[in-house]
Amino acid sequence: MKTLESYLCGRFVAGTGDGETIVNPATEEPLARVSADGLDRAAALRYARETGGPALRALTFAERGALLKAASDAIVAHRNELLELGIRNGGNTRSDAKFDLDGATFTLSAYAELGAALGATKVIADGDSIPLARSPRFAGQHVRVPRQGVAVHVNAFNFPAWGLVEKAACALLAGVPVVTKPASSSALVAHRIVQLLVEKQVLPAGALQLLCGGAGDLLEHLGPQDVVAFTGSAATGMKIRRLESVIRHSVRVNVEADSLNAAVLGPDVEPGTDTWDLFVKDVVRDMTQKAGQKCTAIRRVLVPLAQVDRVREELCDRLSGIVVGNPALDNVRMGPVATAQQLADVREGIDALARDGRLVYGVSDLKPAGAPEGKGYFVAPVLIELEHGAEGRTVHEREVFGPCSTLVPYAGTADEAAELVARGQGGLVSSIYSDDTAFVQDAVLGLAPYHGRLFLGSAKIAEHSPGPGTVLPLLVHGGPGRAGGGEELGGPRGLEFYTQRVALEGARPVLDRIAGRS
Ligand code: NAP
Repeated sequence: MKTLESYLCGRFVAGTGDGETIVNPATEEPLARVSADGLDRAAALRYARETGGPALRALTFAERGALLKAASDAIVAHRNELLELGIRNGGNTRSDAKFDLDGATFTLSAYAELGAALGATKVIADGDSIPLARSPRFAGQHVRVPRQGVAVHVNAFNFPAWGLVEKAACALLAGVPVVTKPASSSALVAHRIVQLLVEKQVLPAGALQLLCGGAGDLLEHLGPQDVVAFTGSAATGMKIRRLESVIRHSVRVNVEADSLNAAVLGPDVEPGTDTWDLFVKDVVRDMTQKAGQKCTAIRRVLVPLAQVDRVREELCDRLSGIVVGNPALDNVRMGPVATAQQLADVREGIDALARDGRLVYGVSDLKPAGAPEGKGYFVAPVLIELEHGAEGRTVHEREVFGPCSTLVPYAGTADEAAELVARGQGGLVSSIYSDDTAFVQDAVLGLAPYHGRLFLGSAKIAEHSPGPGTVLPLLVHGGPGRAGGGEELGGPRGLEFYTQRVALEGARPVLDRIAGRS
């Protein structure tokens, strides 16, 4: 069986030992083995700092942007092959796999354009110059410069292409070399992407390295100029934050973790309107796309009491049309979850959620289409409903990372919606569906402190919207509290994590020159 090699210190290298077997989650067919045992992770970090960093910093933003464009082109040239890998290794339908891969190349292109816009410079001016004395000659200026360390990226299993690329695009454009570690269970896509970039010699030596397999002691060798961007469970995020190396060297850590995203239906929205249909479509898409394994998926569906019966009816009707099975089949709309462990966690989570309320949609005798008898990590979509006023602790506190959402009835006021959503203790994105601007304004004020992004669904944007579940490169991604307190992307904001802001005080002409204004 194929062994996935890591790409470290300029060469592909396999770990020792048996490692872990990667399987097709729809059939349980083994696809590859992965092990990082015995690999010298400290040497990889040194290679990034000593070889990749200087090579990237020798380039201007425009030149680094051009590298990202070349990387995007190299991936697009192998789009079909990579989509097939996503289907086999990720349990993705073709549409799920496109969401991951096309999102990755779109993000690379967006950051390539940002590089071109920043131009032939190596410094970013951060704001205008600030007069510091009566004489206009003495001034202050904030600028940003690349950190001289390495960016270690640790990714979750659900977006092997986008996860790698959305982090790497920001780091590489900022001038910081990357060591990326995909989740072991779905590493095939990330591995192939790196292989393609190496084959086509898109990036300078040391700019991008890949660790396939366990993180091992990787993070123990971090230093004061290094950064870590992590996506995954809150539990692992906490372990990383507590590492001695991180604390000792004040290593910057960005965590993207769990999130109990909510969708709030406004009291003004009537069945059959564009806003209503957008809401129902978004909820069903988020429950079923990637089998609900999306950090931005809608987990809590807040519906005014008067509309609960109708919403339940429509959601159940749409869910009953979802064909679950082997995503290699064209008619399958939802594949399996990623691993046997995920299946066990999701089943257990659904049981816990159902104890808070009642199950209003589920399938007891699921027969996945096109899967070998008794094989595959399949779970049908599940809708739970809380009673109005019920505490619903599990619903508001536990992220079940699968095709499962809970209807939460509320009285239809913005205040009650905000209070319920805030019980999630911080999320990546929530959405408000309403054409009543006063309601939207009140709801935004209530929800905004708990989120990195709010999606405002209305009739006016219904036909243009990709829904709240799509992370866009020009908007920030991240959220406070339970969501990890991180922030990624957001156009130029995405570079901040990888750069050092420094305040310069001096003669204005000198500052203008450094800031690229003369
Ligand atoms: P996980 O177990 O925390 O794993 C995530 C990554 O961390 C994997 O690459 C894993 O490697 C690695 N890892 C595990 N233990 C580590 C350690 N001690 N030190 C360093 N790295 C370590 O999470 P998961 O179960 O794969 O992912 C699902 C979770 O991710 C969900 O809870 C979801 O909310 C969250 N998520 C968040 C976002 C977001 O943007 N906020 C996006 C997607 C997913 P191995 O695979 O080799 O164990």
